[in-house]
Amino acid sequence: MAPNISTTKTKILTEEDFQKNESLTTKIINDENDTQYKREVYVKTEKWFTMKLKWKNIIFISLLHISFVYVCFTFKFFENLKTLAWIFIMYLIGGIGVTGGAHRFWTHHAYKAKWPLRIILVIMYSSSGLNNLYDWVRDHRVHHKYTDTDADPHNSNRGFFFSHVGWLMMKKNSEVIRRGRETDMSDLLTDPIAIFCCKHYSIFRFVFAFLLPVMMPVYGWNETLYRALVSQIIIRYTLLLNIIWSVNSAAHIWGSKPYNGNINPTENWLIAFFGGGEGWHNYHHVFPWDYKAAELGSYMFNLTTMFIDFFAKIGWAYDLKQPSEKLVRNTAIKKGDGSHSLWNATSHSDNKIE
Ligand SMILES: [Zn+2]
Ligand SMILES: [Zn+2]
Repeated sequence: MAPNISTTKTKILTEEDFQKNESLTTKIINDENDTQYKREVYVKTEKWFTMKLKWKNIIFISLLHISFVYVCFTFKFFENLKTLAWIFIMYLIGGIGVTGGAHRFWTHHAYKAKWPLRIILVIMYSSSGLNNLYDWVRDHRVHHKYTDTDADPHNSNRGFFFSHVGWLMMKKNSEVIRRGRETDMSDLLTDPIAIFCCKHYSIFRFVFAFLLPVMMPVYGWNETLYRALVSQIIIRYTLLLNIIWSVNSAAHIWGSKPYNGNINPTENWLIAFFGGGEGWHNYHHVFPWDYKAAELGSYMFNLTTMFIDFFAKIGWAYDLKQPSEKLVRNTAIKKGDGSHSLWNATSHSDNKIE
């Protein structure tokens, strides 16, 4: 792996910090989760195909994907390079809005952000076209706390399809709803910028995910309305949805587990590359509060980290959290599956946390 290229001043956290600092709830959550894993073997009690289906979502998602396959064969991608570049630009803006905004900032508090950056993040998040920010943060907190159990909204033990998109096509089971209601969301509700976005989300989403991205090629470089609609709403939106969904599905199924061999989340470089650095998912479930959501790696495999580092340099992002190297090393040695590139040679049973 490449060395850690982040030169940004960060808050280094050690094992002692966890004992002292109660605000690091994500660590506590993670420990509970570990315990839960050891205690319970997943029992497939609920047949997901008997859940009440959300037909509106099934029809919309199916039509979107059928259209996507059709336009992949018929759309002239290279007819206008500006339109092609705009697909990638909007993909990146929306993607980083999810990874750097909803995920690392609002869900995990992996760093702090001043108000101008929070405004940028809500706009970027809205441009992804995903569900309301409030729902996203709540569901993701529940996912971390009850990973791959019945209370996990996209429990990967129910298979690839369910964790990828199936969970959006049916009503949530009672455990997911119950745990979602219990989830503390008070922090989000005291952030006026987040609240404003959540309250007016349908307008935010319409304007930033669909209206402006489609109008830009039409008025910016005389693209036809049809090509602007197809490139942004069918191609860019479908691609972005699938890479974000892949973090819940592929990155819980395929890859190595250098930091905790007892959980489903994996290190998946392909998802990391296309998902702005969110594919280092075994690491992320062990250290969810690390602003990099990964231990090592270049910006090429973690564009979101580059984004946060840039804003840290101009002072709009601060208190970037990451664990000490000793903590990561000891965790990998104690719990990892032995696939860590630096610490894989050490016999697990001979080592204890110092
Ligand atoms: Zn996960
Ligand atoms: Zn997370």
